[in-house]
Formats: sequence, structure tokens, C-alpha cells
Amino acid sequence: MRLMERTRNRSQQAATDTTPATPILMSAAQGSDADSGQPGPFYQQVIALSLTPQRYQRPGLQEKVLETLDLGKIYIYADEFTTENPDLGHQDCVIKGLLKFFKTEFFTWVTSPTCSQCGSETTMSGVEAPNPGELRKGASRTEVHRCKELPLHLERFPRYNDPETLLETRRGRCGEWANCFSLCCLALGSRTRWVWNAEDHVWTEVYSERLKRWVHCDSCEQAFDQPQIYAVGWGKKMSYCLAFSSEGAKDVTRRYVRKEEQALSRTRGTEGELQRAIGDVTKRCRSTENAERLRAEDEAEEVELAGFMSGPTPTAPEEERPRESGNVEWKEARGEMGRKDASG
Ligand SMILES: [Zn+2]
Repeated sequence: MRLMERTRNRSQQAATDTTPATPILMSAAQGSDADSGQPGPFYQQVIALSLTPQRYQRPGLQEKVLETLDLGKIYIYADEFTTENPDLGHQDCVIKGLLKFFKTEFFTWVTSPTCSQCGSETTMSGVEAPNPGELRKGASRTEVHRCKELPLHLERFPRYNDPETLLETRRGRCGEWANCFSLCCLALGSRTRWVWNAEDHVWTEVYSERLKRWVHCDSCEQAFDQPQIYAVGWGKKMSYCLAFSSEGAKDVTRRYVRKEEQALSRTRGTEGELQRAIGDVTKRCRSTENAERLRAEDEAEEVELAGFMSGPTPTAPEEERPRESGNVEWKEARGEMGRKDASG
């Protein structure tokens, strides 16, 4: 039974574009209580997801980011955004500058890699376990793509989880983009969350000191503060959006799913199991010094999120655009072409 589950998980992973964290089990005592017994698989998954931003704390890693990015360019962009957006603070504009640099110069989107032998296009032919070298650099799995011109040539595309490796490879799909971008935001001095969506997408949130709230950022789309882009622009239905940082975990679904018709049912586990996992991650992350301040911030965010569900939900024009990242075939396969898709 256990083996069957593992096989099924592997085949599910093959179809995804985010790079899941390596599952690590917590002891049952940390996740169970007398009423609800042993923690289920969803509890374990949330605990495993919480490890992604923990990797950003690796000694020397944020310094390496600062050595790798073209800070001069990012700050020039930031100054331009500051002039254009007087309502934003400088910190917000640095993030907007980073978004621009990251998308236009730093990171490359890969649906299928170019053939290293002849430069032709390739098409996905399967997924295998990473080889020892790929594993050492933090690959979770390796896609194999076949050259359209030299069909005997197979191009390997390892999907890396390790943010340090991503600073070097600088390519991938949303998993790699969001992972590396979140690290870069943190290194540039912003409090940062990595946000996981159960329907195969990941993005970033940054705490804006000027706006006094968490702001949605999607590096693949160069989007700043456009939380309704998925539900409205892409026409994506979602069940869970969970945010993780070194300060804890938070269910932020209501920021992205504001109407009943945008929601998918939440069937991964019980709500109690999810709350227990979030509570355990948060407890593990916080110290006695910051717990009080962060709890007050959590309460303010609860009020903000509750407001999204009850009040009107106007959208900005930028939130109504279809997905940019990925080619048309790939987006259509995922049903993320937005309104164009719906109208045929
Ligand atoms: Zn080729």
C-alpha cells in the first residue's frame, strides 16, 4: 500500500510544474492531538512545504545573491518606479525593479529546453530520477526531452529545488522562478513569503512597509500587487494558497479566491488538520521576542482577508490579463489562457 502511494505520488509529480520540497516527516506528537489522532498526509505535506523558505537562511546564501544580481540596474529601475508610483515606498519599488530585472534579464522560462547538440526544439518524453550529479545540486526529478531533429538525442532537464543552484542555472518554470525570486527579495531586505497553490502554481508575497500589508508578487508575470490575476485574468480555480516564511505559515487563500465560483473544494485533508499544521509550523518558527508582534500582525491580516470575502472585489486592468509565461500549447493544456480560452 505504501509503495503504491509512493508510485502514485511520483506520477503526480511528473505532471507538475512546481518543484515540491523533499518530504520530511515530523514526529506524530508534534502534529496530533487527543481528539483527531495521527496527522494525515496533508499535515505532512504542509510541514514539507514549510521547508522551502527555511533554505533561504543557509549561511552565506543571501550574500551570494547580492554578489550575483546586478544591483546597479535594479536600483536604477527602482528609481524609475519611484517616480512613476508616488504612492509606493522605496522598498516596494526595489521589489518592482527586481521583478523587472528578474524577468527581462536574469531568469529564463523553459517549457522544453533547446537541444544542446543542434539547437533545435525538443519535446517532453518522460521523467526520471535525477542522476547523482543532479541530485547533489538539489534536483527533485529530471525531465527528459527528445530533439525534434535528432530523435536519438535526449536532453535532460533537471528540476532543481535548491535556491543556490537556481542562482546559477537561472531557468525553469514557476517552481524555479518563485523559489529563486523569493530568495532574492529576502536578500534585498524585504520580509518575504513563498506561496504554494495546490493547483500547481507558486509565487511570492513581500511585506510592504509603506502599505503595511503583504503584497502579492509573481516573478513569471512581472506582477506586483495583482492578487486577482489568477482567478480573473487566467480563469484559474483554486482550493488552497498557503504562505510560508521563516516567521511561520498562513492560509492566504482568501486574498486570491474572493468569490464562490473561483473556488475549488478543499479536500486534501480536514480544516482542523490544516490549522494544526499551520500552527505547528508557526510555533516552530517564532521566538518569544517576536511572537507578540507577529500575532498582532496575523490578526490585522485576518481582518484584511475577511474583508475580501464580504466587500466588493474590483479588479485592476493588470489583473485581467491572461497568463504570459509559457507557450500557448502549454497554457491551453493547463486551462490558464483566461477569457480568450473561454471564448474559444
Ligand atoms: Zn538536436
